[in-house]
Amino acid sequence: MVDCVDGADEWVDAMRILLVGPPGCGKGTQARLLQKQFAVPHVSSGDLLRAAVQQGTHLGVQAKRFMDEGKLVPDDLLLDVIGERLGQGDCDKGFILDGFPRTLAQAKALTAMLVRHAAALDHVVSLRVPRQDLVTRLSGRRTCRQCGTMYHVVFDPPATEGQCSRCHGSLYQRDDDREETIVARLDVYDAHTAPLLAHYREQGLLRDIDGGGSRDAVYARVLRGIEDAG
Ligand code: AMP
Repeated sequence: MVDCVDGADEWVDAMRILLVGPPGCGKGTQARLLQKQFAVPHVSSGDLLRAAVQQGTHLGVQAKRFMDEGKLVPDDLLLDVIGERLGQGDCDKGFILDGFPRTLAQAKALTAMLVRHAAALDHVVSLRVPRQDLVTRLSGRRTCRQCGTMYHVVFDPPATEGQCSRCHGSLYQRDDDREETIVARLDVYDAHTAPLLAHYREQGLLRDIDGGGSRDAVYARVLRGIEDAG
């Protein structure tokens, strides 16, 4: 948690947390809570890609077809945008990283990026949720276009249908939250991302958390997992 910056005699407190788990496990929701708690930015690879798609950049145009099919965006498209984001000044004191890395190769690329900044991860929080619950959560998920707050049409509906209760922004369903794409995304997670858990467990960084129940109950477990690890 304490890093020496560029070999200088200055020491800074930092908190670098990685959230790992299948689509729909609540990474985005927990990341927003952790971001406030530790006053560090939430960096979501999915959000960065969706912003690129919306802006119609070269990356966005290339990435969209992979995202629409629930497949992984290739590293040669993705790594630069992640490296650039983590290199920005607001990440100096840490970040809550969500959605990246998703493969062992990406995990190695992340380590290399952090080493360049004389930094390392402090905690890898894994959120466990049964597969059937993930499908139910994802297919009912709605997100605010303006502030990113997430709702569920049955379990956590907004006060007014289609409208964010916080900022009154309009709610939308992500293109990849449709049932056929959800199954593809869960299969990709099992095949490519689940092996990361053993990788980070070996490094002593894994905090294995039951992701079932309310947002606040999960958050309490996440904080306990982080505190217990010291
Ligand atoms: P997410 O919002 O994290 O569920 O990501 C949405 C989609 O963006 C994924 O289904 C992938 O197509 C793409 N994506 C996000 N992060 C990555 C990543 N680390 N590697 C490859 N593709 C990614």
